[in-house]
Amino acid sequence: MINMSYQIPFNRPCFTGKELNYIAEAVQRGHISGDGHFTKQCHALLEQSLGIKKALLTTSCTHALEMSALLLDIQPGDEVICPDFTFVSTINAFVLRGARPVFVDVRPDTLNLDETLLEAAITPRTKAILLVHYGGVGCELDTILPIALRYGIPIVEDNAHGMFARYKGKYLGTFGVMATQSFHETKNFQCGEGGALLVNDDRYLERAEIIREKGTNRSRFFRGQVDKYTWVDVGSSYLPSDLLAAFLCAQLEARDNIQAKRQRIWQYYNTHLADWAAEFAVHLPIVPAHCEQAYHVFYVVMPSLQSRQNLIAYLKGQGILSVFHYLPLHLSQMGQEFGGKPGECPVTERLGDCLLRLPFYNDLTEIDQSRVVEAIRGFDGWA
Ligand SMILES: *Cc1c(COP(=O)(O)O)cnc(C)c1O
Repeated sequence: MINMSYQIPFNRPCFTGKELNYIAEAVQRGHISGDGHFTKQCHALLEQSLGIKKALLTTSCTHALEMSALLLDIQPGDEVICPDFTFVSTINAFVLRGARPVFVDVRPDTLNLDETLLEAAITPRTKAILLVHYGGVGCELDTILPIALRYGIPIVEDNAHGMFARYKGKYLGTFGVMATQSFHETKNFQCGEGGALLVNDDRYLERAEIIREKGTNRSRFFRGQVDKYTWVDVGSSYLPSDLLAAFLCAQLEARDNIQAKRQRIWQYYNTHLADWAAEFAVHLPIVPAHCEQAYHVFYVVMPSLQSRQNLIAYLKGQGILSVFHYLPLHLSQMGQEFGGKPGECPVTERLGDCLLRLPFYNDLTEIDQSRVVEAIRGFDGWA
């Protein structure tokens, strides 16, 4: 095609080819509400591949985080520790139960919670430590887990970025008492909107099913473990339709293929931008040797806010969409209501100004990717 205006989006949903067949099969099976055939398939696939006790599909990662806050019985006034550099949902699910957020700055290399600042953030009111494995690169769990254990504080992993990544050989999402996954359209494995709660501690197994099923013991009833199904606890409706599970099942089954594509894309950026980054003092992602990452994002950390904004505008002019995130939570409107002040999390504050994410989706072709790289290498708006 000639004269086609060239457009490389930041994200595009990608299909394995089996999604619609599985959705049709769910319809034929006559069960399209939650916990049908494909939901069970997804649960089994996640449990077997990760080697965990229980996986429960949810309507989103946000809802899986809300379930975590309910399972940990978070009460008004409880403190919850959270990295300052993360998506709003990580902490909002706990604030919804009345928790007070305690934001901890992140490491400048992996952008994960800075484990050297963790102990000082703990008080007698601390009821949970939330971890985010940014870009699917593991937090320093060998330092963090013993601290949490010493104070008896449960860890919840918001593993939205880190499906199938590992820390020292063990899957992310299997370290905390529970972990949450996202299957949003922007994540490695997608079903539009969806998530999962991974339960690693037996104490939470039964109640997790109840909270997910509107506070009823419906799951036990269907397994024949109780002879009637009734209201036994608080809860909500956190289970997705089997139509979405069918879509997701196709994606999860293709996990090796999807991850291989993402690895190739990530490595292409990393290789072809290395000398450029060194020349202009731009930081590229750092992945410690003991972390097998999930290839969720590729980012550059520019030298200044101005150069980042200039690069976004310059790429846009070439039909390429790049995006930034996350604005420091402690300086958001809500964060300031909890007392957040400028200067408290300097690393996150700098990332909020300088980090830029490049186009990254499973079907990004090498031709398009080379256009992105060439465009970046031609950028001269350093100001
Ligand atoms: C995407 C994301 C979420 C929210 O996921 P949803 O499935 O959209 O609710 C939560 N935490 C992190 C770190 C995320 O990246």
